[in-house]
This record gives sequence, structure tokens and C-alpha cells, in this order.
Amino acid sequence: MAKSPVLSGKAFAKEVRRNLADEIKLIVDRPPGLAVVIVGDDPASRVYVSMKEKACGKAGIDSSVVRLDESVSQKGLLQEINRLNEDPSVDGILCQLPLPGHISANIVASAILPEKDVDGFHPENVGRLWRGEDGLFPCTPVGIIALMKHSNIDIDGADAVIVGRSNIVGKPMAALLLREHATVTLAHSHTSDLKGLCRKADILVAAVGRPHFITRDFVKPGATVIDVGISRTDDGLVGDVDFDNVAPICGAITPVPGGVGPLTIAFLLSNTVKAWKRVGVVS
Ligand code: NDP
Repeated sequence: MAKSPVLSGKAFAKEVRRNLADEIKLIVDRPPGLAVVIVGDDPASRVYVSMKEKACGKAGIDSSVVRLDESVSQKGLLQEINRLNEDPSVDGILCQLPLPGHISANIVASAILPEKDVDGFHPENVGRLWRGEDGLFPCTPVGIIALMKHSNIDIDGADAVIVGRSNIVGKPMAALLLREHATVTLAHSHTSDLKGLCRKADILVAAVGRPHFITRDFVKPGATVIDVGISRTDDGLVGDVDFDNVAPICGAITPVPGGVGPLTIAFLLSNTVKAWKRVGVVS
């Protein structure tokens, strides 16, 4: 059987980042600025923040990291965000998740000015996304749509099934696929006959967080399979899709690592440049 094309998010992300760096070089007054707030000492969060800092440096974006102790109060964190909201050299703000249990991620997301909300979690940006308006939208789903378009995957008219309904991945993915005229089903842990549903999908997006949850019998031959999941196991980073057994039957597939992960950072940089330009965003 012919091998399915592997959609290299890594190669595409590199191209996106190079184009952004070229665009930023032409900026004459001041470079775009991104502030990343990290609370506590979660090792995975530290790695993500340092990856974001490095990527900003390479692209020519000024990044700063605000490190707050695990014990900071919600009020203390909101004061810090207000300070960044008012800082004219900061175009984009993100607060690295997860936050400690005593802090509400929703309240924090709502405190970041919508025009600086490069994660796209502010209710105004969520509303703009569902209303079909321009705004800042979550980086992972934005990156997935861009990769599919770049790879000439037909979205218009496709049956898309997303497994996972988080605010970070599943729901914005649904809104963005809908905008591209797919017929979208959002599945979750209460969905009945998940396997049967997935088998009908032309585009199957897995955002569950369970290693190799999507096996070959979930996949319609010829489907595009997008694996968002990242789980750390003794064998390294593992996706939600049983890649070795699914890849031979599908039309296209993203690997883990090297698939969706690199897109998230590339489109964070893209959102920061967009915030700097204030494209379509009310200030
Ligand atoms: P969440 O834990 O917030 O959401 C997981 C979703 O999976 C929930 O909607 C849950 O359903 C659903 N789910 C869990 N078990 C089942 C099941 N047995 N059947 C059907 N649905 C199920 O995760 P996130 O959306 O934040 O992340 C998902 C994965 O993507 C994680 O591995 C995460 O690390 C990864 N990720 C990767 C990114 C990247 O850049 N590549 C970026 C963001 C996330 P219910 O709502 O009913 O509980």
C-alpha cells in the first residue's frame, strides 16, 4: 500500500517563522513585544516558556518573562497583567497554563486586553471567532488550519470530527473548521459510538491527551488525521494516534513529535505580529 503523506508541521512552522522574521526586519520603529507570565515552577511550563523565548529571539520579537511565585494571589497576578496591559512596548501577553488551583484561568484570560490576547482566550476574541469576525485566535487550531491549507487538504464540504472539547483546542478548532465550511462534530468523553463517528470523518482531529487512543479502526481509509495530543511516556513524546498502524490507511497524517507542536509556537509569533499591527482588533 502507498505511504500516506506525512504533514510536517515542523517544516511548515520553520517557513512561517522565517517569513515572520523577514517581515519584522522591515519594521523601522520598534520590534513587536511579547510578555509571558509564568506562575510557579512546573517543569513542562518552564520548557515551553523557554522555547517561546528562543523562538521570539530568532524572529526578532522582544520577549520578556514575568516569573511569579506559586503562592502569588489572584489579585497579585491581575495587578501584574494590568501593568503589562498598560505597557506600550508590550503588544502581546500570555499567561502560561496550568495555573495553581487558587487562580482562575478564565478570570486571568478576561483580564488581558483583547488586543494583546495572543492566546485568543479572552471572551471578546472567542466571540469574534464564532461570529466570523477578525481577532486573535488560539495558536494551535490556527496553525492546524494553516498547515491543512498549505498542504492542499480539502476542508470545504468535508465531514470533520474533533475528539476533545477544550477551550484551548477542541472548541476553537470546531469554530475554525466551520469557518472553512466543513461540517463539524465535536466529540468528547460522553459521546456514544465514538469509533463509528470517527470512521465517518474526512478530517479527524484528536485532542484527547491519551497515548495511541485513536487506533486504525477509528479511521476512514483516505482521511486526514491531525494528532494534537502530546503525552510524555517512557518512550518519549507520544501522540493520541497510533501512528504506525493508522498512517498506512489514511490520506495524510501529522506525526508526534514534529507535527502540530511546532505550529503552536510559530502561530504564537504570528499572533504577536498581528497584535503589533492591531489587524481587525478593536483597541
Ligand atoms: P483537555 O484535557 O482539556 O481535554 C481533553 C478532551 O478529551 C476533553 O474534552 C475530554 O472530554 C476528551 N476525552 C477524554 N477522554 C476521552 C474519551 N475516552 N473519549 C472521548 N473524549 C475524551 O486537553 P487539551 O485540549 O488541553 O489537550 C489535549 C491534548 O493536546 C493534550 O495531550 C495536550 O498536551 C495536547 N496539546 C497539544 C498542543 C500542541 O501544541 N501540540 C497544544 C495544546 C494541547 P470531556 O470534555 O468530556 O472531559
